[in-house]
Amino acid sequence: MNNQLAALEKAAAHAAGEACSELDLQQVRARFLGKKGELTALMKGVGSLPAEQRPIVGALANEVKDRLETLFNSRLEELRAVELQRRLTAERVDVTLPGRRLRRGSRHPITQVTEEIVSIFASLGFGVAEGPEVERDFYNFEALNIPRDHPARDMQDTFYVSDDVVLRTHTSPVQVRTMLNQAPPVRVVAPGTVYRRDSDITHSPMFHQIEGFLVDRRVTFGDLKGMLTTFINEYFGTGIGVRFRPSFFPFTEPSAEVDIQCVICGGGGCRVCKNSGWLEILGSGMIDPEVFKAVGYDPEIYTGFAFGMGIERIAMLKYGVNDLRLFFENDLRFLKQF
Ligand SMILES: [Zn+2]
Repeated sequence: MNNQLAALEKAAAHAAGEACSELDLQQVRARFLGKKGELTALMKGVGSLPAEQRPIVGALANEVKDRLETLFNSRLEELRAVELQRRLTAERVDVTLPGRRLRRGSRHPITQVTEEIVSIFASLGFGVAEGPEVERDFYNFEALNIPRDHPARDMQDTFYVSDDVVLRTHTSPVQVRTMLNQAPPVRVVAPGTVYRRDSDITHSPMFHQIEGFLVDRRVTFGDLKGMLTTFINEYFGTGIGVRFRPSFFPFTEPSAEVDIQCVICGGGGCRVCKNSGWLEILGSGMIDPEVFKAVGYDPEIYTGFAFGMGIERIAMLKYGVNDLRLFFENDLRFLKQF
């Protein structure tokens, strides 16, 4: 029996040494010290020994049991220490690594140009107005001196929602809405999205305009020229050539298109300005008395001017972009440059 105990202790110590995880060790412990374990079985056999041997062998078996308990516990500590070390190594955090930053977005170039233009006009005393993009025929056309049979309707390829409702083809309906709600003097710019059935490298079915108008007593064409020249000098730089060219719009009389000296070639002539040295950037004019009548302003008392420009066109000239569609493709490589 003594020999059996010694052999069992040796085997248990060996098995504990071989165990390489906590789970392994639990199984070894069960195999020797569990209810159906080998040592437990041996100790049950003590009862069948001669009476004088029982206490001696029993004490011996208990000593073996205590030594094995101690051994298993210390092996458990060892295994836990190894496991901890393994995890510390595997999950090591390098605190010297630079952090992962969120990439910063930037404002869309069209938004930037809009804000720059608005802020220049704000410094000239203009407020900002907005209006709906789905608009009644009355605001988009009729009140602007463009009745149903007017040939000027052909100038704008309109998206019709129904007979009486359109996607606004310009920001001018905001002018009408503002004047209907507010008595003169008014001084407002209206930036916004507009829609026309047109699509190529210089036209998009959805684009942006900014409209501006000023109504008061004794406003003259000289005021219009002065205000727009001030804006152009602020935006494109002082000293740039500006010219006003007679034109036609149904809602202004007289009307003028405004050209600036080509920002690409400086006026010498190039592909962008079609060798003319000039670039058209906006339309303008004195507000037609018919428009005043439609909104209830007395044309005998008040005069005013209005102007409008395409924001994409201004952005293309400012940044030298030659394809309008780039603004709407949302390619980050393009947008990140602004
Ligand atoms: Zn040019």
